[in-house]
Amino acid sequence: MVPGIRTVEIPGGQAEVPVTKGALESGLRVVILKDVEAYRQGLLDHFLQLRSLLPLCSTPTSFRTAWDLRSQILSFHDAEAILSQGGQLIPHNSDSRLLQCIQQGVELSPQRRLVLAVRHSEGNYEDELNAMGQFKYQPPKDATGMLRYRWCEYLSESLGVPYVLLAVTWFEYKMSDDLKQVFVVTPAKIIECDSAKNDLNAQFSAPLRLQLITRTEANSTINLLLALSESNVEIEIRTELPDRLAREWSYERVNNSSKGRALKKWAQAAGRLCPHCGKQLIDIQLSHIAYGHIVSRNWCNAFTFLLDRVNHPDNLYLTCRSCNSRLGDSFPSKELRDSIVASGTVGDMIRGNEAEIREIS
Ligand SMILES: [Zn+2]
Repeated sequence: MVPGIRTVEIPGGQAEVPVTKGALESGLRVVILKDVEAYRQGLLDHFLQLRSLLPLCSTPTSFRTAWDLRSQILSFHDAEAILSQGGQLIPHNSDSRLLQCIQQGVELSPQRRLVLAVRHSEGNYEDELNAMGQFKYQPPKDATGMLRYRWCEYLSESLGVPYVLLAVTWFEYKMSDDLKQVFVVTPAKIIECDSAKNDLNAQFSAPLRLQLITRTEANSTINLLLALSESNVEIEIRTELPDRLAREWSYERVNNSSKGRALKKWAQAAGRLCPHCGKQLIDIQLSHIAYGHIVSRNWCNAFTFLLDRVNHPDNLYLTCRSCNSRLGDSFPSKELRDSIVASGTVGDMIRGNEAEIREIS
């Protein structure tokens, strides 16, 4: 990081922010903690707090409606529109900083290391929410704030789990002399962390790029993060495949299809083995390589809650046809599990090598 003046966009113009060496150093002391265990605990506490706020959250669609009102005053009809799309109006609460009209845009975790929420109000920086529910959130006007944005992006990238925060907007809506404001809250995640890939120096004062997400997605993302912290888990935790990829590479779509053959060819070239007999897939004819189920179809039929997962790419692996029948309806032993993990589930292959696999036909 090169110290110097950063020019950032603010409502109605630009501001020059001096980023000195001293400011960066003191910023680092706020955002990052040398004690890794204490940092980890702080991170977990932060996301547990965030998760506890999810039941207050509205749907992305209703948040968009609230955003698009472009007014600080909410009419009864506006309120109806927000509610009918799965929104919730939460009255002002002087016990919660989130549910008060505070000028400061970014709300931090109690230890001030992480971003908990961003407040949007009419006339903010680049007041645009695109069709995908994506928006840019204004850069802060101090070095610590910039460092904190980049750190949250870095966490998102390096943990392989999107960084979740809350987006908040508020309106004047008179319910009584004491209750005059309502809030609409929705979860969002950090997207496109260019600073990690590109030049941190050039990107240092960039805005945060965010996308609105559903409560369900926020919840499963936070749960994944909490699971990652369980250091005694012997099984590798996988990030959830995006729905689109899970459908595209499900059993029905890969079994006996050109897509499935491309994946087999990729696995052959990549030197993958049959996890049962250890034979190189390259030494087996394509038609003799099968898509095996880790948890069998019969089990999933018997325990119907598994049914929507049976053909998921993470329940599938490549094996020789003759070995495929061997597992039957039993669960894989520890040894077999280890070799399936080593050669990868279909989901793992897609996670790490999507572009390469798509090039094969
Ligand atoms: Zn085999």
